[in-house]
Amino acid sequence: MARYGMVINITKCNGCYNCFLSCRDEYCGNEYPPYSSSQPFAGQFWMRLIEKERGKYPKVKVAYIPIPCMHCEEAPCIAASSNNAVYRRPDGIVIIDPEKTVGQKEITSACPYRVIYWNQEKDIPQKCTFCAHLLDKGWKEPRCVESCPTGALVFGDLNDPNSEVSKIKASREVDVLHPEYGLKPGVCYIGFPKRFIAGEVILADREDECAQNVSVLLMDKRAKKTIKTDNFGDFEFEGLEPDTEYTIKIKHEGYASKEFSVNTRTDVCLGEIVLDRA
Ligand code: SF4
Ligand code: SF4
Repeated sequence: MARYGMVINITKCNGCYNCFLSCRDEYCGNEYPPYSSSQPFAGQFWMRLIEKERGKYPKVKVAYIPIPCMHCEEAPCIAASSNNAVYRRPDGIVIIDPEKTVGQKEITSACPYRVIYWNQEKDIPQKCTFCAHLLDKGWKEPRCVESCPTGALVFGDLNDPNSEVSKIKASREVDVLHPEYGLKPGVCYIGFPKRFIAGEVILADREDECAQNVSVLLMDKRAKKTIKTDNFGDFEFEGLEPDTEYTIKIKHEGYASKEFSVNTRTDVCLGEIVLDRA
């Protein structure tokens, strides 16, 4: 028996919203009993995208975090329902029965991930089903996964060690969203945004040229890493630990070096760093 799960690689998500739109396309105006009733044309986000702004001007980045139902092993939405109206299939998919849940509004607030939506017109709670109706017909993945152009969403059988989703989980460090909830989600993530330190190097006597190939050294208590400035004179260290003290040292032959102490309480942009002739 399959046990379905998903890995979401945040570093590959470009915020195109194809997953959200294909979900709308699949469910708006369409009934798939006994798994789902039609999704309204507005107000529900079965695949919700959170846009997380990082850094500040002049270095601002956005991370997109797709959030479907996590199909939790310890699902409080099941416990909150009466009449077995919310249940977990043997393959791990958590289903809200659209007939049995009529009037059970309390189910919407049982989910700490806030992925259950109340349909006022039909008087039912609704959410992502991992496209259970399609999987039952032999589809290998839900519509959102099929439509993702970057491969940010990977879906498959966690019980099959040869499935892509199992191989990713075995070979890489994955995280769950809000582990403190303790719900054993079937969806996990790669690449939650950490911290970055960035800046731009300028050579004082060559201000009209980009200072490429300048050495930038990052040090903390445990490690050192050196990178070179790019064609625009910019540098960036990504994936750094939060609340950590780092030293940045910028060196270029013939120029006086500069050193900075940086704490990654937030993302850090050091701005323009001018190196004078030695
Ligand atoms: S994410 Fe929310 S709706 Fe989905 S299974 Fe977990 S508790 Fe239920
Ligand atoms: S389709 Fe893929 S890349 Fe586009 S927003 Fe969704 S997860 Fe991100």
